This record gives sequence, structure tokens and C-alpha cells, in this order.
Amino acid sequence: MKLICFDCGGEPPAAERGKAAAGTVMCACGGLFDIVRDHRATDAERLKRTFDARLAERLSPYASGVWRYKELIYPELPEASIVTKYEGNTGLYRPDNVRSYAGVRELWLKALSENPSGSFKDNGMTVAVSHGHAHGHRAFACASTGNTAASLAMYGALIDAQTYVYLPEEGVSRDKLLQALAYGARLVPLAGGNYDAGIRLLGANGGSPDLYVCNSINPYRIEGQKSIVFEIAHTLQWRLPDWIVLPGGALSNATAAGKALRELYALGFIDRLPRIAIIQAEGAAPFHRLVEQGTAQLTPEPRPRTAASALNIGNPPSWKKALRLAIEATNGVTAAVSDDEIMDAKAVVDRCGIGCEPAAAASLAGLRKLVAAGVVGAEETAVCLLTGHLLKDTAALQRAYG
Ligand SMILES: *Cc1c(COP(=O)(O)O)cnc(C)c1O
Ligand SMILES: [Zn+2]
Repeated sequence: MKLICFDCGGEPPAAERGKAAAGTVMCACGGLFDIVRDHRATDAERLKRTFDARLAERLSPYASGVWRYKELIYPELPEASIVTKYEGNTGLYRPDNVRSYAGVRELWLKALSENPSGSFKDNGMTVAVSHGHAHGHRAFACASTGNTAASLAMYGALIDAQTYVYLPEEGVSRDKLLQALAYGARLVPLAGGNYDAGIRLLGANGGSPDLYVCNSINPYRIEGQKSIVFEIAHTLQWRLPDWIVLPGGALSNATAAGKALRELYALGFIDRLPRIAIIQAEGAAPFHRLVEQGTAQLTPEPRPRTAASALNIGNPPSWKKALRLAIEATNGVTAAVSDDEIMDAKAVVDRCGIGCEPAAAASLAGLRKLVAAGVVGAEETAVCLLTGHLLKDTAALQRAYG
């Protein structure tokens, strides 16, 4: 296994091995590290049988919907270092009214909202915290629009470590903030700053090599989030729909989905590569504009603004990874949807008994829009990722039903 900078191809300096190297999240050039592994010796058919057998596990770490796929995520990690809450294992549903709302032949909803802290952040956070734990870190930090904070605080509490969450003063759901505080996180307000300011602050390990940064710039989180695609593919007996549709904020999920698809395809788990559709909120859509206009550099949105607070990100750190791994590698597309379209789609997801927070519904709103535009065909099949739980934003519920 190697850490390779996605921008310059460099590796972390050898002098930084050990505890400090374990905390390395960014290259000296400012690029993000990517975990690169040689899978040539991997026997897909044997692994499929291993993954199937682990479905019977109850108490071992392999009962987790992330660690079930350990060989494709973090094979080197000693089993005793795994910090897990049996995350993953989330439902895959096929509600017909939601399918007709989107306008495709077949639609699956992957309810990542059913994770232990209520969002897909758990799929990645279990890996980042396990890695930090294995390297002796006792202090963990993240900048967050809310769900990353709640997830990190939960895993930190499991190993009795201190967590610090850097939160914007405005636009974070109260429910997510209170959840993080209940798990024992210390809140660091980003005075006058937003999520993007927090990322800048934490970029250099928050100035302290002892602070382990668990944002999506952390490459171990990306490895963990690959399990979302692995689990969908496994549930569908290694046949994926034509499209994987997901909301895009910091673009970690888009990156992880693209990377997971590439690995499954290269290893022969799947024989066809689905396309990825990344959906942003209109008020925070710098990546959509980049793809639409075909420019070489991302122009950050200085004042991101959307009611889908988890998408309120103007300068997505993982945009280069998402561009190469999700858009270029899968012939992917992007779309931007309005807050009204998001809330309309959310009401449909809520009403079918699954439910989600506003940001999650961007995937369905975007799919509907792409079908109307003829980008996704009515005869095609899709899976929409529902990234966060209905109860993550009770203020939105109050506005709609209170
Ligand atoms: C974090 C988050 C997103 C954005 O995902 P990225 O990987 O940052 O693009 C979308 N929806 C919810 C509910 C989230 O918590
Ligand atoms: Zn570099």
C-alpha cells in the first residue's frame, strides 16, 4: 500500500513515518493523497465467497457493512484496531412511487441514512478513526457542515478519545450539532467563517501533528466510503444499475464511488461500468459549473447558500479526484437543482416511508431533472444514494409540517 499525491505523484516524506505520518492528510504541494494498492493478486471469485460467508457474522468486525469488504478497503489494518459500530448494512429499497417520480424503468434507493450516526459519513469514518487509533492518536478533528462532526464524535467516544469539531456559526442543523455535543465533542466555532474556512485551517493538521484530521481530505475515509458501492453491488449479486446518482458537496462520495467502480471492474466483480451523476444544489454548484463549462480549474463559490445544509460548500476539496474518477472515468454527468426541487423530492422520499434530510433528496431531484433533459433514458435503471436521515434536520420538518 502506498500514499500517492493525486496532484504531483509524490509520497509523504520518510522522516514523517510513525505517529506524525499517520496524520499526514495533505501533500506539501497542497494536493490530496490517494491510497494506491496493487490488487493484481486478488482472486475475485474467492473474495465473493468470503464476502457472502461474512453475511452470517454477528459480533466480529466483519459483521460491519464496511469491514465485510476489508480486503478491498484496508487489508493491512490489524483486526484488533478496528473501531466499528456495525456501520453500513443499510437498506436498498425499490418504492414504485419514487420510481415513477424520477421517470426511469427501475429505481433503487440506498438508505445510507440508516447508518449508526444517521449519515453515510460512518462508512468512511470507521476507517479513518480505526487508522488513527492504530497509530496511537488520542485527539481527532474535523471541519463539518454537521454530519461529519456527529460521526467523528460517535467513533471518538467509542474509544474514549477527544474530538474537536470546527463548525460554521450559521447554516448547520441544530440536530447535528447537538448530536456531536452529546457524544462529547468539543465545539470550535468558525467565527464568521464557513466550512471552506475550516478546511483551510485543518489542512496542515490544524497546526498540530497530534491532531488527527478526519475530513474527507483524509484518504482513509475515501477507502471506507467505497463500501457504499461494494454493498450495493453485493446486494444486487454484482450487477449494478446503469446510473449511480449522488449529492455532491465536498465530493468525497463521488470520488469514492468512482474509485470503487474502477476497482470492481478491474478485478472482474462487475462486467459493466455504471455512470455516475453528481447533483449539486444551485446555490453551491461550483463543480457543476466546472463540468458544464469544461474549464480546467474550479472557481470556488464565495458565498454558498442552500437549504440543504450538508451541501453548503463553495470550495470542494476533492474536486480533482471527483473529476478524474467519477466524471472522466465513468462518462459521468453533473446537474444542479434548486432548493424547491430538493424539498419536493424530499417530500416524495419521506412519504414513501424511507425519509431523508434535504441534502440527500438532491439525488432524486437531480435524477428527475436528468430524465426530463433526456440525459438519463426512461428505459434505464438507477440507484439514488440517500445520504442522511430524516431526523437530521428537524427545522426543515417544522417548516414543512409544523
Ligand atoms: C456530507 C454530506 C453530503 C455531501 O457529500 P460529499 O462527499 O461531501 O460530497 C451529502 N449529503 C449529506 C447528508 C451529507 O452529510
Ligand atoms: Zn503533491
